[in-house]
Amino acid sequence: MRAASKLISSTHPSLHLSHPTPDSFTWNTLIRAHTRSVARPSLSVYLRMRLHAVLPDLRTFPFLLQSFASPSNLQSGKRTHAHILRSGFASDAFVQTSLINMYSTCGCLDSAHQVFGEIPLPDLPSWNSIISANVKSGFVGVARHMFDEMPQRNVISWSCMIDGYVRSGDCKEALALFRDMQLLEVEEVRPNEYTMSSVLSACGRLGALEHGKWVHAYIDKCGMEVDVVLGTSLIDMYAKCGSVERARQVFTELGWKKDVMAWSAMISGLAMHGHGKECLDLFSRMQDQWVRPNAVTFLAVLCACVHAGLVSKGMEYFEMMREEFGITPTIQHYGSIVDLYGRAGLIEKAWDVVKSMPMKPDVLIWGALLSGSRMHGDVEMCEFSIKQLIELEPNNSGAYVLLSNVYAKMGRWEDVRYVRDLMEAKGIRKVPGCSMVEVGGILHEFFVGDESHPETREIYQMLEEIMKKLKLAGYVGNTREVLLDLDEEGKELALSLHSEKLAIAFSFIKTRPGTPIRIVKNLRICVDCHVAIKLISRVFNREIVVRDCNRFHHFRYGLCSCKDYW
Ligand code: ZN
Ligand code: ZN
Repeated sequence: MRAASKLISSTHPSLHLSHPTPDSFTWNTLIRAHTRSVARPSLSVYLRMRLHAVLPDLRTFPFLLQSFASPSNLQSGKRTHAHILRSGFASDAFVQTSLINMYSTCGCLDSAHQVFGEIPLPDLPSWNSIISANVKSGFVGVARHMFDEMPQRNVISWSCMIDGYVRSGDCKEALALFRDMQLLEVEEVRPNEYTMSSVLSACGRLGALEHGKWVHAYIDKCGMEVDVVLGTSLIDMYAKCGSVERARQVFTELGWKKDVMAWSAMISGLAMHGHGKECLDLFSRMQDQWVRPNAVTFLAVLCACVHAGLVSKGMEYFEMMREEFGITPTIQHYGSIVDLYGRAGLIEKAWDVVKSMPMKPDVLIWGALLSGSRMHGDVEMCEFSIKQLIELEPNNSGAYVLLSNVYAKMGRWEDVRYVRDLMEAKGIRKVPGCSMVEVGGILHEFFVGDESHPETREIYQMLEEIMKKLKLAGYVGNTREVLLDLDEEGKELALSLHSEKLAIAFSFIKTRPGTPIRIVKNLRICVDCHVAIKLISRVFNREIVVRDCNRFHHFRYGLCSCKDYW
């Protein structure tokens, strides 16, 4: 009771310590205070309140419901729901919205829908809650349907929907929706920091630098303060769009506001661009400024070591993380170590790490082991890890394709055909290589062998010209990675149709000589394209930046920033 009295005196001056029994206000305050406490859940406070014969009021239940924040609280949530029905507050809009939120955070979307369905005239917050509930459960289509249907929308509705598209990976739709939102020019739907964070994340994932720059300018134009959250989103966006310079600039401008997330974003940005040394320097600067690194920071640091091939340094950091900072490594950290050893050709050591891990290896671990053994021609380990991958994800087309690639490399055409037949029998389709390039603020997508672009004829003509010049400069197609069992000439043709080459040909038509070209590719860049693009950068004197699914490649003067290590 003393705690309650203290709370009253500090939060509500009109209530006096001498009150004989605390009223519902006091109890509500207590419940709220226990919302985030695991040791003394607010439900027990509520039950004590009832024991003292104090009746709940309108604010009691929303506070209480907020405290049920995980599926393990579902039973308590249901119990509370029953109390609400009995106490006659079930028709209150605030209570209903809180119920929808509770069911969605406890992972019970059906019940959330049921509560929503029972509201005769849902208000804006209830609509927003049910949309958010669907977004969180991954039902973006349902959310969109409801979004289109709701009678009125505010900035929360729009932001939630945009965020939903980003989460589900449909970043183009996120940007399209943001554009619609802006066209409204209504005060209630003016984008806020939360909206902009999602939009920046969409630009980053797409690698759409022009879009990202425009969003940054928009933030400035609206007079939004670039706080540490928005600043971190900007750093992340610029790094993922291939502009380390701009990321650095935002990072510097944040000044003293930088927290561990901002530092980690910058370190991670430098890592993905292969600036290993600068990345590690920044890491020690961070510690000089008394910012304590967390698990995310270490992941970025390990990633830098992987891309720079710094094996012993990487191990040092791994130890430092555990021993000096007491951070328990997650499977992602182990994945980095496997990657670190694998890429350096220390397959045995990588395998030892996999065996010593306290958790079951997942797709990432096998993938890391696979790329290492593949890079260094360890066929046995390759085959083994691919089979593990297929076991974990029987519908992962990438794994089958890799397996057939491995067989193709060894000329085991019978096995190649077997894998192909297996894929066909299981109805698994290969994920086609796809490259995206942003020209004049528009994103153009090219698939391997694509002929759907309106300017296909010109693109192929340009591609032919480029290849002709490359051959004069000594280029020979590297046909080792072509998985089709074609003859040599056919293989070379198949290579020249890889999506990044089409995207480059298109950019040659659309941009002035000397303009840098930025491409985002969904799969790992193949050896042949890597050789060809290096040569293109020299012969045509163009800077070309390719972001593949692993890292960035900055091609300039016939060389790549990855030093052929990717
Ligand atoms: Zn290629
Ligand atoms: Zn490279």
